[in-house]
Amino acid sequence: MPLNVPGILVPFQLFINPRIIVPALSVKDIRQLNFHALKKAGYKGAVFDKDNCLTVPYKDALVPELESSWKECCEVFGEGNVLIVSNSAGSFQDAGGIQAEAINHHLGVPVLFHASMKPSYPCIDTIRTYFGSLRHPIKDRELVIIGDRLFTDIVMANRMNSKGWTEYTRDLMRSVRQVLLSKGSEEKDASHAGSDTKVSAHPRTLAVWTTGVWKREAMVMRFGERKLLEVIQKWTKPREGEVIGDIGLFTRELPSPSQPTQRGLLQQLTARLHLKRS
Ligand SMILES: [Mg+2]
Repeated sequence: MPLNVPGILVPFQLFINPRIIVPALSVKDIRQLNFHALKKAGYKGAVFDKDNCLTVPYKDALVPELESSWKECCEVFGEGNVLIVSNSAGSFQDAGGIQAEAINHHLGVPVLFHASMKPSYPCIDTIRTYFGSLRHPIKDRELVIIGDRLFTDIVMANRMNSKGWTEYTRDLMRSVRQVLLSKGSEEKDASHAGSDTKVSAHPRTLAVWTTGVWKREAMVMRFGERKLLEVIQKWTKPREGEVIGDIGLFTRELPSPSQPTQRGLLQQLTARLHLKRS
């Protein structure tokens, strides 16, 4: 596996913003997501990780259990509005885009070609360029980003929500101005700030963490990420605008585990019948 430098550098950002790895929503897999509810809430597009989210790592086909949810997602958001961003297919390692083409064939949605790995800012810019160039452009805050790794997928989603240098500078200038102004003016400004930051139905990119894995991979890293998340959730408070109201509406119960088993048995019987016939 190649070295993911942007991912390795994430711990440094944790010192400044530890909540950069905190997902808005955690589900076992995408079957728990209610795509109709997400669309109704104003989300117009989705970015999916591939390995251990939609497919078994380094395989091209969708995990059979996810077929129905995937179909629903693609239908709800519409053609072109669902994008796969992987650090394997479509990345600089995917020579000639062969993997990306295979994934596009199996999953029926575009795969982003990107020169820099998730969660880098250049990769985020490439995603923005893609959604901005659609016939009906989609803004960052109208995107749902779904993936199984906190240090890549969730950090990338939260970076889309974080402020750029321009906004940081503007905030700094505003703070300096407030210090210089009289107390009365400060109170007035504060009341205005409160009304400006009123939370809308879909104020930010939605970071969705899929906690289940289809094949055990990088389990030590996953364990470390999970433990770190627990500590951060225990010791830090959500930032302004981080909490999205009625988020429970976006999830539903996972199908009973007996269903895939029954279907598996049926498939085995059908396969045996076919073998006998041939
Ligand atoms: Mg993955």
